[in-house]
Amino acid sequence: MAFEKARQLVLEQATPLGREKIRIEAALRRVAAYEIKAKIPLPPFTNSAVDGYALRSEDTQALRAASPTSFVQLRLLAEQRAGAFFKGWVKPGTALKLMTGASVPRGADAVIPREEVEAGANHIRVKREVKKGENIRLAGEDIRPGQTIIQPGTCLQPAHLALMAAAGWKEISVYRQPKVTVIITGDELCPPGEPLKKGQIYDSNSTLLQALIKTTEAELIALKRVKDNLASLTSALKKAILASDIILTSGGVSVGDYDLVRVAAQKLSGRQIFWQVAQKPAKPLAFYLFRHNRNKVFLFGLPGNPGAVAVAFEEYVRPFIKKMMGRSDFLPREIEATLTHAVKKKKGRLNFLRVRLQLSGGDWRATSAGAQESGIISSLTETHGLALIPAESDFLPEGTKVKVHLLEW
Ligand code: AMP
Ligand code: MG
Repeated sequence: MAFEKARQLVLEQATPLGREKIRIEAALRRVAAYEIKAKIPLPPFTNSAVDGYALRSEDTQALRAASPTSFVQLRLLAEQRAGAFFKGWVKPGTALKLMTGASVPRGADAVIPREEVEAGANHIRVKREVKKGENIRLAGEDIRPGQTIIQPGTCLQPAHLALMAAAGWKEISVYRQPKVTVIITGDELCPPGEPLKKGQIYDSNSTLLQALIKTTEAELIALKRVKDNLASLTSALKKAILASDIILTSGGVSVGDYDLVRVAAQKLSGRQIFWQVAQKPAKPLAFYLFRHNRNKVFLFGLPGNPGAVAVAFEEYVRPFIKKMMGRSDFLPREIEATLTHAVKKKKGRLNFLRVRLQLSGGDWRATSAGAQESGIISSLTETHGLALIPAESDFLPEGTKVKVHLLEW
């Protein structure tokens, strides 16, 4: 199966899981389920943009063409701090001292910054004409009440949350986070940091997948290591189906004698949506659907090689999670880049080439990040994106334009 077809089959299964109401402080990077409108105008009342004196601009009109030494003297009414409210009026010939953010009293139509006046105990002297509206922030000038401030499907960033708080909200309905279980298979695996026995390798996929999941808004609920043994794998999978929305397995999905993920999935009545994709790395990728009560549970059978895990996660799992969380921008960000060297490959499989990107004269240039074999981890640390080398090509000369999917991490 071609990559495009496989990913389409994955994405068409990704539908939002339902909604929940949470506090806005907890809603960073979650996705708004509904349109949000401002409850109040922003700012809620007309206020001062500076520390200064509220006055009537007409009182200073005489200074328009006056000599530099002339001034107007205004009687000081009171002092108004931010948060306080002055009930009186600023009548002709008077001014009110106020702080930034304090409400501008009735009668006043401008504020002169305190640095610009000569202040006495009971009066101020103004030496220039102050124009109507100077240093005044009008009620509703930013947002009108009822104005839409968040569109449904928005991935909430700090500014969205601040805007909601300012506009009178404390909770928001967002799409539920998928619960993810990771099952790591492999008789050869040793947990990180423990003494390695002969023939063992460290299990790095558990660390990789935990970290990758943290870069999404999905919630890791369990991580289990199992041996390549049908009974343990089936029992781990069965437990995962009961509690998860998404199951990620690592290893055991290829054509080896002890690759048992598909056998276990079949035993538990999983429906295979696809297995094996014409891509490199991650050719053995499998995708299954389980039904549990009225819930759908999806299994991504990821290959064991870390390079394949990373690529399959970025190209399939991350977009799936994003779409499930209600995001409209679920696909990897794609740019066009120019290869700085030739690329040779076999025909038949789309290659995801790990590349470094460099901006040069407004153009992105893509250079191989190092060894590309799926077992290699080191070049992943140098990778900015995955260049798509089409299935049907076997040679791309230096200077070829390619599509590159940017890695979010
Ligand atoms: P498999 O798909 O199970 O045949 O594994 C393919 C390759 O990936 C083998 O070389 C495994 O040793 C390696 N591998 C499998 N699981 C892991 C893991 N959790 N961490 C690192 N390498 C792994
Ligand atoms: Mg294995």
